[in-house]
This record gives sequence, C-alpha cells and structure tokens, in this order.
Amino acid sequence: RTVYLNGEYLPEAEAKVSIFDRGFVMADGVYEVTSVLQGKLLDFPGHLKRLTRSLSELGMGNPLSDDEWLAIHRKLLELNDVRDGMIYLQVTRGNPGDRDFAFPPEGTPQTVVLFTQAKPGLADNPVAKTGMRVISVPDLRWARRDIKTVQLLYPSLAKMEAKKQGADDAWLVEDGFVTEGTSNNTYIVKDGKIITRDLSTDILHGITRGSLLRYAAEAQMQIEERPFTIEEAKQADEAFFTSASAFVLPVVEVDGAKVGTGTPGPVATRLRELYLEESLKSAI
Ligand code: PMP
Repeated sequence: RTVYLNGEYLPEAEAKVSIFDRGFVMADGVYEVTSVLQGKLLDFPGHLKRLTRSLSELGMGNPLSDDEWLAIHRKLLELNDVRDGMIYLQVTRGNPGDRDFAFPPEGTPQTVVLFTQAKPGLADNPVAKTGMRVISVPDLRWARRDIKTVQLLYPSLAKMEAKKQGADDAWLVEDGFVTEGTSNNTYIVKDGKIITRDLSTDILHGITRGSLLRYAAEAQMQIEERPFTIEEAKQADEAFFTSASAFVLPVVEVDGAKVGTGTPGPVATRLRELYLEESLKSAI
C-alpha cells in the first residue's frame, strides 16, 4: 500500500513518524474517515469542515487547503486502486523533539498521515439484513466528544466488552441517557418518528448523521432531536446507528432484549437506501 506522510507518497513500510510525535506520546491529534464508493468520496466537504473545527478547538491550524486535501485523497485512491473502502487522515501537533506537556513552539510542523483501506462490496454489508446486537456501558470518555481526537482507548475497551459479552458494539450511557455508540451516532424509531440525541459537546457531530437527517427531513419523515434511555431503546419499534464507514446499520438487540420484532425494521432499511442513494449523488 502507498500512504501519504508529510507531503510524500511512500510505501507503508517506509512511512516513519518520530517516537516523540505528540500523537504518539500524548494522543494529541485529530482524524477523519471518509468512505469511498465507486471511486468517489462521500460527504467530503463535511469531513473537511469538521477537521478544521477539531483542529481549531485544540488550538491548531489546518495545514492544507481544501483543494490540497482533495488532491491527496484522489491520488491515494488512484495509487492504491481503491473503488470501495475508506481513507483515514490524521493530523497531530507534530514532533517537539522531547516529551513535554506544554505545546511545542509555534511553527513546529504538524504531522499529516493518510492511508486507504480497501473494502470491496462495502455498500452490500450483509449485517444490514441481519442487524447488530449492542450492550450498554457507562460513558467514561472525556467531556469534549465533539472533537474527533485520536484518543480512542475507552471506545476500544467498550468494544471489547461488547465482544466479550457476545455482542457487536456498545452504546455509551451517561446520566441515564445514551450518548452515542463506540464509533457511531445512535437512533431509535417510535411510532414512525426518528429520535436521536441533540448535538452538544457530549457527542461527535456525525457527518453521516447530518446528511441523513437532512435527507430524512426532505423525505417528510418525522425527526426529534433529544436524548433517549436504554429502556426506551428496548421499547422502541426500531433502533439503528450511523457512521461514515458503516452508513446506516440496524440494531436488533439492546442488552439482550429484542428491539421491535428483533429484525431490521422498515425505517432503518429505508434510511440506509436513502443515505446510499443521496450521498452517492453528491459524492466527488
Ligand atoms: N460518534 C463517534 C464517537 C464516532 O467515532 C463516529 C465515527 N467516527 C461517529 C459518531 C460517526 O461520525 P461520522 O458519521 O462522521 O463518521
């Protein structure tokens, strides 16, 4: 695989980052994941906008222009011959040459890394027809989940707890309400209404969430943005989640209880089709 590192396209084995990099020793960096279908980038302007915001919230600038980011994405797709899959991008505060809590001096170059992951048949994920099973765990992450940082240890632990319990993913709960999934935004459907947590610093402002809610509103579907509990999810007609890499996936079981009929529901199924159709139209 050819990857991108600080202006160069290199074989992955030759792409080396310093052990003093702030991303490595402090998790001081942000990332984005953009899906690729039929060789095109989905929701790309949204991902770039959130990247700039994440960087800015951590006191960092955006090292590249939108056109430069796009050119790197396109070049990596071409070099690696990716039609379906994703591109991961990460920007860290760079290498201060030593470990120190204080930021490195102004002008220290940021570290920029991008790589592709091919996933042939990405849009035809069989799980869309069977659904996911989730467990609930306490949300023990830091309080700025609106910033897409690379500190992913707690979500990773939660995912492993889900696997240990024979489930597919975990939904995180704080003050009695679901915040989001380990790496996705969460929804329930009750009496035809789509219910999902409102945006705040408590959750990541999912790019897929934003697009999907827009498409759903355009299709005259009812939407309510408010927190919901695990109990409500168990009593809901349907549940599902969204992320750039999974699009829309139905959830059929929460903490061992079947949601609705225990099979993917019509609303989640329709929203998946709607998202794939509409986001491909605006893909670049
Ligand atoms: N919440 C969290 C915690 C995530 O990690 C992700 C995926 N990165 C999402 C939500 C979904 O965001 P997006 O639709 O932009 O991928």
